[in-house]
Amino acid sequence: MYLFSTHTYTIAAITHNSMHQERSIPVSVLTKVLTCPLLYYYEKDTGMQQSGKYLICKQISLHAPDPGTCEEIWQEILFIDPGIDRSLLPYLKDCLAACQHTPFPSCTDHDLPVYSGHGFHGMVDKIHTGENRLAITRSSPAPSRGCYRQDRLRMAALVTATQETLHIRIRGGYIEYIPSGIIRWYEPGPRDRREVLKALHMARTILAGTIPKKPAHPPCQRCRYKNRCDKKPHKLSEFF
Ligand code: SF4
Repeated sequence: MYLFSTHTYTIAAITHNSMHQERSIPVSVLTKVLTCPLLYYYEKDTGMQQSGKYLICKQISLHAPDPGTCEEIWQEILFIDPGIDRSLLPYLKDCLAACQHTPFPSCTDHDLPVYSGHGFHGMVDKIHTGENRLAITRSSPAPSRGCYRQDRLRMAALVTATQETLHIRIRGGYIEYIPSGIIRWYEPGPRDRREVLKALHMARTILAGTIPKKPAHPPCQRCRYKNRCDKKPHKLSEFF
């Protein structure tokens, strides 16, 4: 029953928000800008692909409450993405072992596109419209406590967009850290929504052609653009 009502609301919201579509920014871009605006600047024209690890975690999450066997879930993943990297099978096994006793939140719908009139959009992994909560699935291990800054922004943006799309009140949601088998509840606050607006503004500035500056604490050690960023400008024009 919920599935029908959710989709009806979604279609209405898509029509309502169509005027925002042209300049709407994906939530995944906002989290990337928050991580490092330069990172987004380098990748803005390459297009974002769903990672194989995320696909695996998503399938584990959607399988609950029936845990399923490794073989069963792997076959489903191959069906969803026949081109997935086969070397990720051990990752699936490790995640399944970690999630053996994880109490996954139930849902009434999944993969729900949501839109905000503020000019961003995203996809909600799971939603329970009866209990006014959503869930997002992550393929990274859980932090020692709480949740990552990027996940707090992601939750704030998706809660806002879901409320606007479905016209229902959403309190917050669960963040499923699948490789750790840990689920954490988070209710976004004003600080998180300020981060959304800041990232939105920065993304628009970059798309308009501005080269962003290095942030205060960028994660350079594990970044593929380290050499590029470390390179000293050798022409006068590269200083500007
Ligand atoms: S190397 Fe550092 S500053 Fe450069 S894009 Fe990566 S994280 Fe950002």
